[in-house]
Amino acid sequence: MTCSEFKSIFPDVDVPLQDLPTFFFEQTSKLQSDRPIFVNADNSQTETLTGTQLHDMSVALASGLYHTLNVRKGDVVAVVLPNTIYYFVVTMAALMLGATCTLINPAYVPGELAQQLGHCGAKFVVTDNNTLPSIRQALAQLEGTIISSTKSILCVDRASAHAGVHSIFGILSHHEFPRFRVSCKAEMQATPAFLCYSGGTTGLPKGVMLSHYNIVANILQGKCLQDTLRIAKRTTLTMLPIFHIYGLVSIALTFPLCGSSIVFMSKFNPCRFLQLIEEYKVTDVALVPPIINTLAKLPPASFINNVSSLQLVISGAAPLGPGTTALFEVFINARVAQGYGLTETSPGISFNIHDSNNHKSSGTLMPNIEAIVVDDYGRRLGPGKTGELCSRGPNIMLGYLQNEEETTRVIGEDGFSHTGDIGFIDHPATVFVTDRKKELIKFNGFQVAPAELEGILLLHPQVKDCAVIGVFDDERLTEVPRAFLVLSADEAGRSLQADEVARELVEWVNGQVAYFKHLRGGYVLVDAIPKSPAGKIPRRVLRDMVTGAKQIN
Ligand code: AMP
Repeated sequence: MTCSEFKSIFPDVDVPLQDLPTFFFEQTSKLQSDRPIFVNADNSQTETLTGTQLHDMSVALASGLYHTLNVRKGDVVAVVLPNTIYYFVVTMAALMLGATCTLINPAYVPGELAQQLGHCGAKFVVTDNNTLPSIRQALAQLEGTIISSTKSILCVDRASAHAGVHSIFGILSHHEFPRFRVSCKAEMQATPAFLCYSGGTTGLPKGVMLSHYNIVANILQGKCLQDTLRIAKRTTLTMLPIFHIYGLVSIALTFPLCGSSIVFMSKFNPCRFLQLIEEYKVTDVALVPPIINTLAKLPPASFINNVSSLQLVISGAAPLGPGTTALFEVFINARVAQGYGLTETSPGISFNIHDSNNHKSSGTLMPNIEAIVVDDYGRRLGPGKTGELCSRGPNIMLGYLQNEEETTRVIGEDGFSHTGDIGFIDHPATVFVTDRKKELIKFNGFQVAPAELEGILLLHPQVKDCAVIGVFDDERLTEVPRAFLVLSADEAGRSLQADEVARELVEWVNGQVAYFKHLRGGYVLVDAIPKSPAGKIPRRVLRDMVTGAKQIN
C-alpha cells in the first residue's frame, strides 16, 4: 500500500461462501429472539415477521414458485412494490431458487416500467393491487416486441382476484424443491442476486449486477461498524424505500443481524413518524437529508411525543447539510451519523461512527475497503487532496448488465471502482464527499439521470438541443432537475411565445416520468448548449449559468 492508498482502520471481515438467504437465515437463527425483525407500521393492523416466520414463508413460496410457475436459476424476477414485510418473503424465495431480483420503484409510469422490465428480461413481476394497472400497461407496451419476456404476474395483497394474476398467498405450498446454494467462490461471485438500476457516471440508467457475495460482504462490513455502537434493544424506524440499495442492504438486511427490529413506514408523515418513535421506543432512525431537514424545520409545538429513546439518526444517499442542529435540541439523546455509498458498491463505503455530529464527514472506510483519490489524469493524490473517490473491496458490483464498455470504464484494471464523486480522504481513513463529477442528479435521495430527460426533450419537434443539470433548491433542500433549452428556429426570437412553448415542454416531459424526475428546477432558454470538442456537455459551465431560470412548480 502506498501513502496515497487508504485502508479501513478495521480488521477485514471474513466473507463466507454462502448465498444470501442461507447466510441471512443462519445469522437470524443465531439471534434466538422472538422479536420481529420486520414490522409494517402503515396498516391499522400491524403486521410483523420474525426471522423464523420469514424463513418458513420464503421456503414455502420458493417451493410454490418452483412447482407452479417454473421459476428457475437465472430467471429475473421483478419486484415492483412499496415497503411491505412481504418484500422480503418474495425476494428471499426468488433468491433461494437462484433467480435474480430486479427492484423497481412502484411510482414509475408505465413507460419507465416497460423500459426496465424489457431491458433486464424479467420473466416474473411481483406487485400489489395499486401498481397492477401500471404493470399491465407496461406489459401491453412491450407486447410483440423482442424484449417482451414476462410470463406471469404475482400479487402480494391478500384480497386480490385479478384475471391472469397469481396471488402469492394462493401459491404458497410446502413441497420440496432443489434449493439453490452457492457451492464455490466463483459461483458466489458470479451469480447476481440483485439487479438495481443506476445512472452510473453518465448516460441512461444501467442494470447494476450485485452478486450474493457483494451483498453478504456489505452486510458484514456494515454490521461490523454498527456493532461498535452497542445499542441495546435496537428498534429502527425507516421510510427508506426497500427498492433502493440503501434501504435494502444497509438497513433492512444488515440491522436485523445487529439485533434490530425494523419498523417500516411506506411514506413519510412527520406526525406519524414522531408517534411511532414513542410507540415502538425507537432507538435509531434511517433517513435521507431532505427528511432530516424537514424535521429540523418543524415548529417546536410539533414535538408532543416522547422521543427520548432515540439514540441515533442515520443519514445517507445524499450530502447532509449543516442545518440540522435544531433537531438535536429535541432529540436530546441522539446524534447524527452519515453514511456514504452507491448502488455500484452494494452500497456502503463509509460510515461515521467516531465523529458523529460532524456533518461534513461521511465517515470512516468500512472493513475490507481500500480507497484512492485520483485527479483528472488518473494520478493518485495524497491525504487531504481533492479528486475523484475510488474504492476497491468485496462489495464492488459484478458490472453493468450487457454493458461491458461502461463496466470497464468504471472499474479500472487495478480493481478500483470510480464513484464519480469528488472528495478527499484524511488519514487514516475518513472520507469527505464535496461534489459530484458525474452527471447524476439526486432528488430527495432518488436518482435522476439527465440523459433520460434530455432524450425525452429531444423527441419534441420544438426542441433543437437541450441539457439537464441538477441545481440545489433552497426551499426543498434537495437537488432538482433544470432544463437548458434551445428551441427550434420557429420559436427562437419570439420571446413571449418561446416562454409559453418552454412551459408546455416542461409539462410535457413531466407527464412522461415519475414524480421525482419532474423538471422542478424549471428551464433556461439559451441560444446554444456549450459542447466540448468531443461533443460532451460541460455541465459545470451550465451550473455557472443557473441564474434567471423560469421556475415551474
Ligand atoms: P445511489 O446509487 O442512488 O445510492 O446514489 C449514489 C450517489 O449518491 C453517490 O455517488 C453520491 O453522489 C450520492 N451520495 C450518497 N451518499 C452520500 C453522502 N453521504 N454524501 C454525499 N453524497 C452522497
